[in-house]
This record gives sequence, C-alpha cells and structure tokens, in this order.
Amino acid sequence: MKTLPVRILDALQAHYHDPEVRLHEPVFEGDEKQLVTACLDSSFVSTVGPFVSEFENKLKEVTGAQYVIATSSGTAALHLALLGVGVKKDMEVMMSPLTFVATANAVSYCNAIPHFIDVSKKTLGIDPEALRKRLDEIGHRTSSGCINKTTGRQIKAVVPVHTYGNPCDLDGILSVCAEYSLEVIEDAAESLGSYFLSGHTGTFGRCGIISFNGNKIVTTGSGGAILTDDPTLASKLRHLSTTAKVDHPWRYYHDEIGFNYRMSNLSAALGCAQLDQLSVFVEIKRRHTERYLEIFKEFGELTMLEESKKSKSNYWLQTLVLGDNLDSYRDEVLGLTNANGIMTRPSWELLHQLPMYKDTPFGNLKVVESLGKRIINLPSGVSLKWKQLH
Ligand SMILES: *Cc1c(COP(=O)(O)O)cnc(C)c1O
Repeated sequence: MKTLPVRILDALQAHYHDPEVRLHEPVFEGDEKQLVTACLDSSFVSTVGPFVSEFENKLKEVTGAQYVIATSSGTAALHLALLGVGVKKDMEVMMSPLTFVATANAVSYCNAIPHFIDVSKKTLGIDPEALRKRLDEIGHRTSSGCINKTTGRQIKAVVPVHTYGNPCDLDGILSVCAEYSLEVIEDAAESLGSYFLSGHTGTFGRCGIISFNGNKIVTTGSGGAILTDDPTLASKLRHLSTTAKVDHPWRYYHDEIGFNYRMSNLSAALGCAQLDQLSVFVEIKRRHTERYLEIFKEFGELTMLEESKKSKSNYWLQTLVLGDNLDSYRDEVLGLTNANGIMTRPSWELLHQLPMYKDTPFGNLKVVESLGKRIINLPSGVSLKWKQLH
C-alpha cells in the first residue's frame, strides 16, 4: 500500500502534461511587447504618461470602482489606504494571520499594531463569528470609536484578505464592522477577477487594494492599485502617492510629507496588455480547479479550496487542504513533489509566529493554527498544461 504523499505525487504526475511544473509564472502572449515598446518610444517611462491613466480606467471598468489610484506596489497601496482612513500610531488593526506579511507590515508602517483574528475553514478569510466574539469580549464602543479594553488602544480598522483569490464572507464582516464602527480596507491583492455576490472584491469596504506583483494573476512587474468610491479619499491618496506635490507646470511645492508610490508608465503599459487577458486567465484557472477536483475526488481525506455560493473566485493559487489529522504528511508531500519537479508550497508562516509580531494581540486562533499546517499550494499558472482526459 502506497503512502498518501506517494499517491498524491502519482496522481499529479498522471495528469500534468509536462514532467516539470512551476507554481505560478506570468504569461506574456498578448500586446505586452507592443505596448511596452510604445512606452519606451514615447520616452515617458516614469510616473507621468498616458498608460497610467489608461490602466486606471481599465481597472475601473473591470472592478466597477469609481476611483482607482495606481501605485508602485500592493504594499504601497495598503500603506496609503491605511493612512487614508486614519490609521495612526498606537491604533489596532484586525486581520487574519494567514496572509502575506505585507498586510501586517503596512499596519506597522503607520506605527499601528496588527491584531490577529481566526479564519473561517470554508473561505480561509477572517471569520465574522470569531471577529464578533473577539470584539464582544474586548471591544468597548465609545463616541470616538472602539477601544480595546485590555490594551487601552483604539481598534480602528479591519483588513479582510481574499486568501488565494477566494472571496471571504464580506456580508458577515461588513455587518460586524458597522456595529463596531470599524473601517474596512479589503486586501484584494490576490483577488483581481474575483467577485462577492455581484460586486468585485476590493469594492465593498471604504477602499480596497490590488497587487500586480510578478506572481499575481495580472502583473505590471511590480505594482498595485487602490479602489474606492469616495472622491475625497481618492484625491487625498492620489496626492500622497505623488510626493504631495501641488499640481503646477514648473514649481516644486509639496504641502505635506508624501510618498513616491505612483505606478510608472512602463509598468502601466505592461499592465494594460495584461488586463485585457484577465477574463481568459480566470477561465483557465477555474478549469485548473475542476481538474484538481477530478484528480482528488477519490482521496476522501483531501479537499480543494472552493468558492462559496455567494462568490466567484479567480482561483489565483490552487489550494489543497489535507484532512484534520494529516498535518504530519504535509512536509513529505512538499518534499516529494518538489524533488520530482512539481513546485508546491506551504501556506505562509502564520504572522503571529514571526519574531516581529509574536507580541501583538490576538484572539483564539484554533482554526488557523490547525489549517496553517495542512495547506499546500499546487501549480496554478496560466501556462500549466494537462494531459488529455480519456
Ligand atoms: C502580494 C500581496 C501583497 C503585497 O503586494 P506587493 O505588490 O507584493 O507589494 C499584500 N497582501 C497580499 C495578501 C498579497 O498576496
């Protein structure tokens, strides 16, 4: 009888077309070269140039957001968004610890403190019930906001992450946040092309951010964007992203301490070509999920992360979850697949276990501490090829 890791390896190898498969890689088979060349020919390669606005307009169309501010990275977008809603020194911002470190780092850049909340097993995003429970326990509602009774600090905002592109339960999260007067900033870094009900992820909170890093579904090399429907917030963030320079044909006047966080025209040119292919990329990834479901259906003890009835996922990273008592197999699966040319990865180390965040406040993290040890990301790229099914 073969062990579970060997059976998983065999099953994958029986379905992949190629012997070696990467986790995720960008594909440039649209107008990328043409638009980047046009950008070079125009000599406008920095933050001024027509591709930046064109990219923002395309993103407005895709997401339905009223305002889009293109930035130099998703992390920069998060930092600005947090500043924009008023996250300041010694405030707390709630999030799940199952996310890329940038979500917490951006909070730290504001001299604020992340506060970790458990996730829902179904979505891998912050669990509205756990959020409510924690707030009922420690939150004190005052006229100037919600105070953490145990630390004395204001809890200002919640940053729900749409983990691996899978929309979290926004209904539940938004209603708890409204009850406690907390700002919502969606970290939709991974979820371009994912929807909750009929709205694009990142458009439900006061603002949301997207990342266009090289490993995301659509890339600008490095880049990000903030989505919002709030005109005042949008102009404030645009101003902050361009060193707070007051618009003038030749004068350099800055009216506050701003940031060099604007997206470059060169990145935006690449992004325009990539965005045109988003719906094709999403379709391919959705088919990857169907295939993985087919592969793993005979393994009772394994599940694939799937969208809820209320949402549509872009399935950015395919996510296999080992059964409750199978965490001891994870490293063996990772070792065996990687040794055989199949690039797989565990989930991020949980943020409250990293040295810089180990002393931050957190609620009961039972679900995420168990899940964190059982997640395996599988090859998910648009270029991934399958053998023909008979
Ligand atoms: C990628 C990512 C970010 C950061 O985006 P960058 O463009 O790499 O700075 C933030 N949050 C999450 C959840 C991410 O996956």
